[in-house]
Amino acid sequence: MGQKYVDCRELSGDMHCKAILAADSKSELMEVVIKHAINVHGLANTTDFRKQINARVREGNPPIL
Ligand SMILES: [Zn+2]
Repeated sequence: MGQKYVDCRELSGDMHCKAILAADSKSELMEVVIKHAINVHGLANTTDFRKQINARVREGNPPIL
């Protein structure tokens, strides 16, 4: 089973963040990403931001850094 993941650098634009956030389902991933974005990057949980996350969700195994 593949995972869904988001590369935080693509999402937040913060090149210093090396976080790859992964989960088994999209809704789970959404929660993980939003929590990370709020706690680490001080971003707001808005509809627009959720759309951005949705657009950047990738399928498969996250790359090993
Ligand atoms: Zn991050």
